[in-house]
Amino acid sequence: MQAELVVIGCRAGSPGACGPASGYVVRLDDATLLVDCGPGVVAGLAQLGLLDRLDAVIVTHRHADHCADLVGLAYHRRFPHRAPPLPLYGPPSLAQVVKQVDQAFGIPTLEELRTPIATALPFTALEPNTTQEVLGHRVDTFVMRHPVETFALRFHDASLTYTADGAFTPELVAFARDSRVLLAEATYLSAVGRDLMGHGHMTAETVGQLARESGAGQLVVTHFADCAERDAIAHGAARSFCGPVQAAAPGLSVALE
Ligand SMILES: [Zn+2]
Ligand SMILES: [Zn+2]
Repeated sequence: MQAELVVIGCRAGSPGACGPASGYVVRLDDATLLVDCGPGVVAGLAQLGLLDRLDAVIVTHRHADHCADLVGLAYHRRFPHRAPPLPLYGPPSLAQVVKQVDQAFGIPTLEELRTPIATALPFTALEPNTTQEVLGHRVDTFVMRHPVETFALRFHDASLTYTADGAFTPELVAFARDSRVLLAEATYLSAVGRDLMGHGHMTAETVGQLARESGAGQLVVTHFADCAERDAIAHGAARSFCGPVQAAAPGLSVALE
């Protein structure tokens, strides 16, 4: 099994000087998956030579920093040249976003862009808290504590768990159990002034706790509210977790099994 994780973007909220918002490429043998498609991700994929090498897209939830570039990706695949449909997967609630974005940004006078996402990225809903197949590979979903329907993902063949967005919970520890690579959000350096459980995010400390309690082989922290805190968040996580810790950055590549 040849498998690799490539970070396209690691910013929470919006793109910035440190690159795009959320986006990752997961390569599983000959299948190349884009996981999340936040603003800036299409340009980030192009810069890394990956934009036209995707076989499927999985979006974890309908917050803009995880899906706003779906319309850019759909336009790219329809104009000026037509690429084959690229399957899109995500929580059932993503269907409404596809419909509304197509209503807002479809171009009725151009047949190829009338319903860009529905045509270029045909959607299949994943079920919550279950195991499904995506391009022949087993993917588990787990519903995170976050204000909208959000799925953490576990790629069995690569022993990779991605938390998407959400709070630390004992159930998340169980879902991530014994992952070789844990790609986990650590939106904030510290919990001071943050509503971690009400809104649902993790900090340097809680992401380290998640890695330790779940028995992760290595931890990659991501989804930074402030990119200037990236290294401090990785160091903070390493206080609670004795395995290797890396901070996500565009172009970072992590070998998976
Ligand atoms: Zn987010
Ligand atoms: Zn979110």
